[in-house]
Amino acid sequence: MTQHDEVVKRRLADKSRALAEALERVREGTYGICQACGCRIPRRRLEAVPTATLCVSCQAQREGVAHAA
Ligand SMILES: [Zn+2]
Repeated sequence: MTQHDEVVKRRLADKSRALAEALERVREGTYGICQACGCRIPRRRLEAVPTATLCVSCQAQREGVAHAA
């Protein structure tokens, strides 16, 4: 197992977890609702990023914070 394989494996595991969580939200009826501000995530964004849990502005804010940290 090379280091590259480890990275790929971790990415796939993350993706798989994100998809499972998205399915769980569909079952709960909370799919497409921003987890930070509670607004509806635009359909176009969900089509582009089906596992998105944040609206564009909350995502940008979070990434801004992450960059600052
Ligand atoms: Zn939001």
